[in-house]
Amino acid sequence: MENINGKNLTDISYIKEIMRKHGFNFSKAMGQNFLTNPSVCPKMAEAALEFSAKNLQEEILAKKTAVIEIGPGIGVLTKELCKRADKVIAVELDKRLLPILQETLAEYDNLQVINDDVLKVDLQKLILEELCGYDVCVCANLPYYITTPIIMKLLESELPINSITVMVQKEPAKRLCAKPGVRECGAVSAAVWFYCRPEILFNVSRGSFMPAPNVDSAVIRLNILPAPPVDVKDRTMLFRLVKAAFAQRRKTILNAISSGLGISKAEVSAKIAQAGVAENLRAEQLTLEAFAKLADSF
Ligand code: SAM
Repeated sequence: MENINGKNLTDISYIKEIMRKHGFNFSKAMGQNFLTNPSVCPKMAEAALEFSAKNLQEEILAKKTAVIEIGPGIGVLTKELCKRADKVIAVELDKRLLPILQETLAEYDNLQVINDDVLKVDLQKLILEELCGYDVCVCANLPYYITTPIIMKLLESELPINSITVMVQKEPAKRLCAKPGVRECGAVSAAVWFYCRPEILFNVSRGSFMPAPNVDSAVIRLNILPAPPVDVKDRTMLFRLVKAAFAQRRKTILNAISSGLGISKAEVSAKIAQAGVAENLRAEQLTLEAFAKLADSF
């Protein structure tokens, strides 16, 4: 089936046809669940680029927009991004998808596909070399088996990007966006709130994918902050403490930090007191400000 903009990449019979033609079958290990709900990708692409537009207006600059996509699959979201952005760079691990992408997205000359593991790509260098002068955002339907490592990498490498719009599983979406200090939060939420303002944009049912996963999904947008909301002398220490405290989240911060960092309880107790924080709290009860004070006393 053709639509006005070429092949309809959400049409299940077309997906099956192109898979058959290229001898492609889904890899569960690579988290391959392709979107077939036609309303999702245009909405995701709009949401990713809408934030760029807002930024540009504020800067009163006529900058070009670029998107880094992780895991384009057969290109269903990529196509919507190519229609709206000046440049799209898509990083795909599975080399079997490259000839498919060449065919499905042949009409777009603003697309560059990189065959690599996104966790191994030097994104800082990529932006500097390929997207210098562009207003850059990230947009992806993430492979679920590495959602957290990808988000942590995007945040910790402090890339010059304005937002990260991603599809993740519904429960992790809630955890990622939970503010430090509330029960659902985790170590990754602290990193999210240190670098961004997160928002859950919309839910996507499991039936929107082929093959259908066992759980529903949600699209979230992490709007990168110009500067972190808290002052901290040493970011590495902040995140070491956060990880230690959440690694044993049922324990008090005194016990979790002492065993996580391998420091005596007496010493940890003194540092916690110096920060003005109660040592019998659990990680999930600490705000980002409290973690920052703790980091400064260590
Ligand atoms: N964007 C497509 C869509 O929405 O239909 C596919 C999304 S599918 C959930 C995840 C994609 O990520 C697959 O194409 C998979 O091959 C790719 N992928 C898996 N691990 C990856 C990695 N480490 N680096 C880059 N891409 C990866």
